[in-house]
Amino acid sequence: MSERIRFEPGRPTVLRGGTVLPMDDGRRVLTDTDVLVVGDRIAAVGPGLPVPDGTAEIDATDGIVMPGMIDTHRHMWQTAMRGYGADWTLTQYFVWYYLEHGRLFRPEDVHAGNVLAAIEAIDAGVTTVVDWSHGLQTVDHADAAVDALRSVPGRFVLAYGNIQRAPAEWSAAPEFRDFVRRRITGDDMLGFQLAFDVTGDPSFPEKPAFEVARELGVGVTTHAGVWGATGDDGIRLMHDHGFMTAETVYVHAASLSADSYHRIAATGGSISVSTESEQSAGQGYPPTWAVRAHGIPVSLSMDTSVWWSGDLFSAMRTTLGADRSREHMEAHAKGDTVTHCGLRAEQVVDWATRGGARALGRDGELGTLEAGRKADIVLIKNERSPVSFPLLNPYGHIAFQAQRGDVHTVLVNGRVVKHEHRLLGVDLAAARRQVEQTVEYLRTTMGEETWQQGMNPDVPETTLLDNPYTYTDYHSDSTHTRRESE
Ligand SMILES: [Zn+2]
Repeated sequence: MSERIRFEPGRPTVLRGGTVLPMDDGRRVLTDTDVLVVGDRIAAVGPGLPVPDGTAEIDATDGIVMPGMIDTHRHMWQTAMRGYGADWTLTQYFVWYYLEHGRLFRPEDVHAGNVLAAIEAIDAGVTTVVDWSHGLQTVDHADAAVDALRSVPGRFVLAYGNIQRAPAEWSAAPEFRDFVRRRITGDDMLGFQLAFDVTGDPSFPEKPAFEVARELGVGVTTHAGVWGATGDDGIRLMHDHGFMTAETVYVHAASLSADSYHRIAATGGSISVSTESEQSAGQGYPPTWAVRAHGIPVSLSMDTSVWWSGDLFSAMRTTLGADRSREHMEAHAKGDTVTHCGLRAEQVVDWATRGGARALGRDGELGTLEAGRKADIVLIKNERSPVSFPLLNPYGHIAFQAQRGDVHTVLVNGRVVKHEHRLLGVDLAAARRQVEQTVEYLRTTMGEETWQQGMNPDVPETTLLDNPYTYTDYHSDSTHTRRESE
């Protein structure tokens, strides 16, 4: 390990000699290239860059330098329950959070989950996260969510939601308006969206909430195309009332008809695909294989750490796998063979970076490594890992080989927040204490039996199939050579 570099505010930083993926229109791979950061922006990308005196130098040789990743849908408050729902379906998730125990979460519990999720994000090179914060039962909860996001040096978007009240109700509350005035100041590090779902009720009760979003000039993010919950009716209502815009993010967008995809494509919105979630929870088949043919922009997300880890390496990997799996299946059903994969590794890396920037309307600033852009940068490099070489296909390396442990250095808004695999300026011990208090509170409030039942849902009975080869005693068959030799 090299001598520790002192990263001070205002000190320029250069990443030297890496394989740089600008993720720009040129789709270039730049080997042995430097990236210079001055202030909060990228000053230059190129080989052998001259740098200002006193620039901090980071050795990026044998590493990949890429834009910071962007997650467009993560319920950060739920990270306090990390892994608890590993064996849940969506139904069990709904019952647990929406109907039974979601109300137990106090502002400090939302804070605890958000802080840990925010730290986890920057550790994994996810420099921007949309906090799909639907546990905001009161404005105190919302203040706690923002306090948490502001305490960690990442870039966030608060997507304000409240599953305990109707969208029309909470979005009309004076205290909500007051919160927006107080806390959403339009600065670069904290964006704002409204987060609510459209049930498909023909009376369209969500209409006033859409009007609030329009009045505030912010996008709506909505779980759309969730089997048994939200579907084509919701999309049609949004479309008929003129609320489908380029800022709208449709989360999951599985279980939708071609007609809904046409409406999304025609109005310029984007889809946030949470492949791991769709695979395990049951919203519908991860939809990239279908939406690619509609030309709808895609970003990636991981939904909630109550099941999954909050890194986008797994999101890229599972998205490639699910898309290709479906492509093969569809071909086999017609007696065909897929000889060339339609979805490429480069495309999922694009979705994990630039796709997120596009979804958030920030593609002029985030998601690419170009001079003048915001300096949200990830260096993937791990000298101790046998998986770090040979580095032949950097897109394939990111999507199928790399993991969060390979994230060596992370910059957010020009600030180095992780270097040589260590987080900088982050109090992980305090985050742990807070989460432990939340877990302790939930566990004692619910009672041990309820807690254990929630984590261990009943396993449906598996009926073993009749097996024709077990009808006769195989080993007594006199023609069988092994039997004869015994
Ligand atoms: Zn979700």
